[in-house]
Amino acid sequence: MTNRFTKKQVFFDLDDTLVDEGYKFEMIFCECLRFIILGFETRAPQIDEILQRARSIDNKMLEEIPPHEKYLPKRLINTWVTCYRELCQERGRTPKPHIEQLLTAMIIQTYDPPYFVIPDVVEVLNELVRYGRYELHLMTAGAADIQQRKLDSTDLGKYFSTIHFLPDGDKAKVLREAVEQFDKDFIASIGNSIRTDINPALELGVKAIYIPRGTWNYMKVDPFNNDYITLDSISKVPEILDGWAKDMER
Ligand SMILES: [Mg+2]
Repeated sequence: MTNRFTKKQVFFDLDDTLVDEGYKFEMIFCECLRFIILGFETRAPQIDEILQRARSIDNKMLEEIPPHEKYLPKRLINTWVTCYRELCQERGRTPKPHIEQLLTAMIIQTYDPPYFVIPDVVEVLNELVRYGRYELHLMTAGAADIQQRKLDSTDLGKYFSTIHFLPDGDKAKVLREAVEQFDKDFIASIGNSIRTDINPALELGVKAIYIPRGTWNYMKVDPFNNDYITLDSISKVPEILDGWAKDMER
C-alpha cells in the first residue's frame, strides 16, 4: 500500500543543488575585482588582497547581521562596497561613487535570470515522481520573490508538493515538522551545504545526501556525524533512495 504516509519524503535544496548559483557569483566576483582595480587605476591593490578582504568582511557580516538578512542581495552589496571603501581609506584615496554604483549593479544582476538548471536534475526529478513512491519538497534559503522567480523561470516548482522559502535559511524547523508527521526513516534531505542541508538532518536522525558543488566559505563546517552519503552527481540519487526504500521493506 502506498499512501502519503508510506511515501518517502524527500527534501531538496535549490541553490547549487538543482540550480547553479555559485558559478554566477564567481563570475560576478571577478567583475567586482576588476572594477575595484579600475577604480584604483595603476596603484591598485593585488587581486588576492582584495579578495581576502572581501571574504573576511562577508564572513564577519554573516556572523553579525540578523538571520533573515543573510540571504538578501543587500549583504553582498555591503560586502563589496565596504571592501572598496576600506582599501581606499587605507591608501588615502576617496572612493569613487561610480565604482560603488558599478559594484552594486553587478551584485544585483547575480540574482536575475538566466538561471541554469544543473545537468540531470530534470531527469532525476521526473524519475522520482513517476511511480508516486516519493513525495518531493523544496527547502530554500533566500528571499521568497527571488527564489520564486527561479522556480517560475526553470519550471521546477511543479515537482514539489510543498515549497518552503526560508529567509533565515533555517531548515531544521521544516525537518522537525516533517519528523513529527512522518516516520524518520521515510525522510531524506539532499543538498550541497553541510551547514544548512546535512547537519540539520543528521541532528534529527533523518537521512542525508550531500552533493558538494562549491559553497560559500561561511557554509564550510564539519558534519555533525558521518551518517550521510556523499555523491558526485545528482544522477545517483534515485538509486540511493530506492536502496533505502528496499531496506525498509525487508
Ligand atoms: Mg544550496
